[in-house]
Amino acid sequence: MESQTISIVGLGYVGLCTGVGFASKGFSVIMVDNDPKKVTAVTKGIPPFHEPDLEKLLQEGIKSGLLKATLDIEQAIKNTDVTFITVGTPSNPDGSIDLKQIKSCATEISKALAKKDKYHLIIVKSTVVPGTTENIVKPLLEKYSNKKAGSGFGLCMNPEFLREGSAIFDTLHPDRIVIGENDKESGNLLHAMYQELYGKTTPFVRTNLPTAELIKYANNAFLATKISYINTIANICEKIPSTDITVVSQGLGFDQRINPQFLRAGIGYGGSCFPKDVNALIAMADQVGYSAILLKDVQEVNENQAKHTVEIVQKILGELVGKRIAILGLAFKPDTDDMREARSIPIINELLNKGATITAYDPIAHSSAFSVFGNKINYVNSAISCLKDADCCILVTEWNEFKHLKPDDFKKHMKQPILIDGRRIYNPTEYRKKIQFEAIGLGPIP
Ligand code: NAD
Repeated sequence: MESQTISIVGLGYVGLCTGVGFASKGFSVIMVDNDPKKVTAVTKGIPPFHEPDLEKLLQEGIKSGLLKATLDIEQAIKNTDVTFITVGTPSNPDGSIDLKQIKSCATEISKALAKKDKYHLIIVKSTVVPGTTENIVKPLLEKYSNKKAGSGFGLCMNPEFLREGSAIFDTLHPDRIVIGENDKESGNLLHAMYQELYGKTTPFVRTNLPTAELIKYANNAFLATKISYINTIANICEKIPSTDITVVSQGLGFDQRINPQFLRAGIGYGGSCFPKDVNALIAMADQVGYSAILLKDVQEVNENQAKHTVEIVQKILGELVGKRIAILGLAFKPDTDDMREARSIPIINELLNKGATITAYDPIAHSSAFSVFGNKINYVNSAISCLKDADCCILVTEWNEFKHLKPDDFKKHMKQPILIDGRRIYNPTEYRKKIQFEAIGLGPIP
């Protein structure tokens, strides 16, 4: 069987990484976005955001001719067999998801399908609440195409689980593939495509459309719950002398029923997915008549971690007016320049409200951080310049290069060497010998 040709609508993290992933395995891919700047950059092999290995694979794909980018969705549909929808689904102010991009994209695809005779498979990969593919995307696709899902075109929902910062690796090595299918033929076609991409050892879960949609939310809500759980235990540690959450986590993580991942205490989760997806699941559950109290608490614990971090600073420094705080790391996690829901945002805003001045350093996120903070904070070009004359330092993002800093770096450059480790990357015994060291989940010295 000849490989399916693929189009992808929406060149964000998911769309672009999916596109280069397929092209790296020999598939021909046309990528579509309605942002001309993105399309121009991608056509030149320049990724619009930072992601390890993305630039290399993108350039290889463009050079080989397997990857193309365009603004023209009609041509992309006409010249391919399969289309992935990977547009954004941001939050509305009430926490529910905003389906504007999904609706406009489904409408454009539907109009393009009207001009095509051949069978075409549409796959919703964006994260959407249960019922969206069946009740919103499907009717829109049928409306302008004058075709029926299941006969005129195929339809699947295939949630994406990649992590920013390791998006290419995750795209090429998924733990499993979830396929929600409108009909067997659609599911079989997508299944065969993925087996060609990943071989036969990757597990598949085949189900209906709303179950596939719910799996994505249940997955992210579970991981967020794990983080808020360990942060709750971390906050208890801080009240009990001589305890340390990192050791507690180790003790838990060896239990195979628990496992060590997502048991790292800190200033909380951020990013474009966890906060948005947990909020959307809460809002959807409310709508269908169930108050998801566990998930509401998960969000509240997460919000409180940022406030709690500022309280630790205040407890040490007292009045913050005129105090200079060094912030190491701005992006929501290492290896990305994504600032969406980054924990640096509530922490810095709270410190600014209390009159502190902020000097910040992030290895790559300054330009995306500038669109959040503008000139309200000072940006410097190295960790050491960030520490210069600071009254206190908060480690916000656990970039690898920060792991190499030694207690003497803080002692030598800061006005007073006070470090708050918000991501638990430093050894408390080593640091407490030389500087004032506090950390999330670290009990007081007895
Ligand atoms: P993004 O916001 O980074 O990118 C979306 C892209 O879609 C933008 O480039 C935008 O210009 C484009 N777009 C919007 N409407 C369009 C239209 N009508 N035609 C063509 N292009 C259009 O999004 P993202 O972070 O890649 O996320 C996409 C989806 O995948 C979301 O539902 C998200 O929740 C989900 N998801 C994201 C991640 C992640 O780590 N970012 C992981 C898993 C799932």
